Amino acid sequence: MATQKKKKNSPLPLATVAVFGAAALVTLVVYDHTPRTESMTVGENSAAVSELPAQTTVTTEGTAMLTTDTTTVLTTTVTEATQPLPPGSVTGISLTFYSCALKVGGNRVMPIVTMTPETATDKSEKWESSDPAVATVDGIGWITPVGAGKCTVKVTSVNNPAVFAEVVVSVTDPNAPTAASTVPIGGTAPAETAAPAAEGTASAESGAPAPAAPTANTTVNGRLEVKDGITYIDGIMIVNKTYSLPASYDPGALTPDADQAFAMLQKAAKLDGLTMNCVSGYRSYQAQDTLYHNYVARDGQAAADRFSARPGHSEHQTGLCLDVNYAGDAFHDTPEAKWLEENSWKYGFIIRYPKGKEDITGFKYESWHIRYVGTDYAKLIHDSGLCLEEYFGIDSKYAE
Ligand SMILES: [Zn+2]
Repeated sequence: MATQKKKKNSPLPLATVAVFGAAALVTLVVYDHTPRTESMTVGENSAAVSELPAQTTVTTEGTAMLTTDTTTVLTTTVTEATQPLPPGSVTGISLTFYSCALKVGGNRVMPIVTMTPETATDKSEKWESSDPAVATVDGIGWITPVGAGKCTVKVTSVNNPAVFAEVVVSVTDPNAPTAASTVPIGGTAPAETAAPAAEGTASAESGAPAPAAPTANTTVNGRLEVKDGITYIDGIMIVNKTYSLPASYDPGALTPDADQAFAMLQKAAKLDGLTMNCVSGYRSYQAQDTLYHNYVARDGQAAADRFSARPGHSEHQTGLCLDVNYAGDAFHDTPEAKWLEENSWKYGFIIRYPKGKEDITGFKYESWHIRYVGTDYAKLIHDSGLCLEEYFGIDSKYAE
């Protein structure tokens, strides 16, 4: 029998989440930020569950609250599991996005669901919309805009109804002139989505003419090789604004090498008292297509191009990169970000979009986005102080 406690309080300096039983599910709703769902077990820490540098510690029992030194108040719902869950139960759900802005008559979207553990026996999903007059959702998660307004679309585990995740959906009606200015856009979107700050950096489009993309199966400078539409340099897969992947390239998950390397990185970080979670790993061409076009609809193309890749140009499609803990600017100053900067190369990863290299990589600084290149190249690139594009002498600019 699960019970729920919900508290909303004024800020306190420390967060403690307390639960009964062997497993608990904690839903953190960060107002004005991204709703997140975290699955925890007693005794474990979950770091950086929000974009705020708060740490959540699961102890023994009670209620939960997460606050920060800012005025942001987080409401935490603790769902208690009074009995240990049977083996094979679903204990967590994550989505590829937690908010979206849609237009009446525009495209529908579908967040990709990941249920954990991977070994869960029944991963069936139940979808519902809090307001079908705003957006409807079908049995597999396609969210279709219906009318202007805001609603929440919820996916629940059929196996364990205590486990769910939500997408905040904002719908505007382009035919109703006042709607756009009166309907607020939903919370900050996750993964690659930190809304760009208004510091006015030029977009990637504004530079020199784009170089010609390599044609199939050619070699450039004796180093760059294209096989089946995929570009490599010395065996390192290259994906940026110049070099894309075919829509059909679909490893389906992190590659075994990247996955194993990240597991080692996690263990090493843990020894240093830090928790590193993958919040976004492999992403399909189709998922990126949806994500990118949502950002274009929300922020315009020039802005979206600074922080979200066009479909085929996302490194997440390679299965070789992942976002750690929180994909947003608030991750920059965390101990976890510092640790990644100093240590991730030892496990074969590089910080793919380093600070001050936006004009070269084509993307804003992303302290959370690490790319697996193998330990040899990770060390070489790290020691050089160069970004991947500089190291290999290549560009990152869209052709159009
Ligand atoms: Zn990323």
